[in-house]
Amino acid sequence: MIEKRNFYIDGEWVAPKAAQDYEVIDPSTEDPCAVISLGDQADTDAAVAAAKAALPGWKAADPAERIAAVERIAKVYAERAEDMAQAISLEMGAPIDLARKNQWGAGAYHIKNFIDAAKAFEWVHPLGDGTPGAMIAYEPVGVVGLITPWNWPMNQVTLKVIPAILAGCTMVLKPSEEAPLSSLIFAEILDAAGLPKGVFNLVNGDGAGVGTQLSTHPDVEMISFTGSTRAGRAISKAAADTLKRVTLELGGKGANLIFADADEDAVARGVKHCFQNSGQSCNAPTRMLVERSAYDRAVEVARQTAEATQVASPREEGKHIGPVINKAQFDKIQGLIETGIAEGAKLVAGGPGRPEHLNRGFYVRPTVFADCDPSMTIMNEEIFGPVLSIMPFDSEEQAIEVANATPYGLTNYLQSGDGARRNRLARQLRSGMVEMNGQDRGAGAPFGGVGSSGRAREGGRWGIEEFCDVKSISGWAE
Ligand code: NAD
Repeated sequence: MIEKRNFYIDGEWVAPKAAQDYEVIDPSTEDPCAVISLGDQADTDAAVAAAKAALPGWKAADPAERIAAVERIAKVYAERAEDMAQAISLEMGAPIDLARKNQWGAGAYHIKNFIDAAKAFEWVHPLGDGTPGAMIAYEPVGVVGLITPWNWPMNQVTLKVIPAILAGCTMVLKPSEEAPLSSLIFAEILDAAGLPKGVFNLVNGDGAGVGTQLSTHPDVEMISFTGSTRAGRAISKAAADTLKRVTLELGGKGANLIFADADEDAVARGVKHCFQNSGQSCNAPTRMLVERSAYDRAVEVARQTAEATQVASPREEGKHIGPVINKAQFDKIQGLIETGIAEGAKLVAGGPGRPEHLNRGFYVRPTVFADCDPSMTIMNEEIFGPVLSIMPFDSEEQAIEVANATPYGLTNYLQSGDGARRNRLARQLRSGMVEMNGQDRGAGAPFGGVGSSGRAREGGRWGIEEFCDVKSISGWAE
């Protein structure tokens, strides 16, 4: 059993002020695999005080010095790749190949893109032509609290910690208590990279404890949060009295519009994307809307793709999917599958219960529902499991109406060979991101949503700006 009770505060590993053990469960066995401690107010206060003390020095540091620190982090992050992948696989059940390539890889990708963005960032620049002496300066927000979920742990941690460092902020990270092991390694990486003490601090804890303590703390200027819409609302309320900046990356219910002129691979690609990471991605394309003339064929391809999706242990190499994170999620997904059946959706693959060959671990059968309609629960609730809902559409207008009929608005997807249609509809989809014909967002593009998906913009230049206050200066000497 891994024992990692200490927190990283002011450049040291320190014991919790009052021990409060918390078991991390391996979702593939349902057994504890590690024990951490949950922090309390005294731990949070110590971490915030360290960040506050480090702020003047880090804020005043030359941006080139901050970029050099992140370049050192990138190097150590690469050296610790295998440790990181193993920790992620253990704590949240990502199959080891996915953990190595996509989970660890997402962090490496963001670190690199942020370095590029910071090198091009103009920290002080003229307002514009015709306004001599008027300058715009980007200054760090101050001490920031960073609260992250368990589903893509290093993706989300690097999307927050790295731009905060580059902007000149100091910080306290509270990773998900369900998947804290990768973040503890991340703290070791930052320590080895020689970040000045107090710039980065980590306190483990839960939402009711350290999460709320950070959200209400008078010395924390901003909370950057990724997680559920429920917690996003609670944090916004908790942060209101101290008037913090709150940036939120929340849930999603992405639509994938597939037209009859889409490429051959469009349906299978959409199903695999929905099931990736066992369906535990906020930007998963979970509602597949297919033009009626291509509908029957699409349902058949979706069935075959789901049945070809292997479910197996995260320790095994390969392209299978692993378990979902915990019992609560497993039960929630099972309940939603039952609801889909009860509300009349046509079950074409998967269904309730574990796959036959697995009798332990939070494994879910890759499930496809067809003939869904927009009023069904499975078309509206974020399931966060390998469950796809398909329905036909007859016109562009209907497809857009259904796609936009959700309070969420993170990523929508569109597949069509008609470029004019793609460009037209991309502007009509209500979401922070639209990805078409299987093309990923470009390096350094902002990630974020609208509505109940939250309105943060993480990644690249926009991700750095989130951690800055914009200062307007006039009378600047030319
Ligand atoms: P969660 O909201 O339960 O927990 C996320 C984090 O918030 C954890 O660290 C948790 O301890 C903390 N937390 C919970 N309640 C809190 C409170 N009241 N105050 C302060 N902190 C609190 O979410 P989860 O189950 O860990 O993650 C899954 C959710 O995250 C899904 O809804 C998913 O869509 C969303 N998500 C969004 C994005 C995005 O970028 N939009 C990315 C990944 C995950």
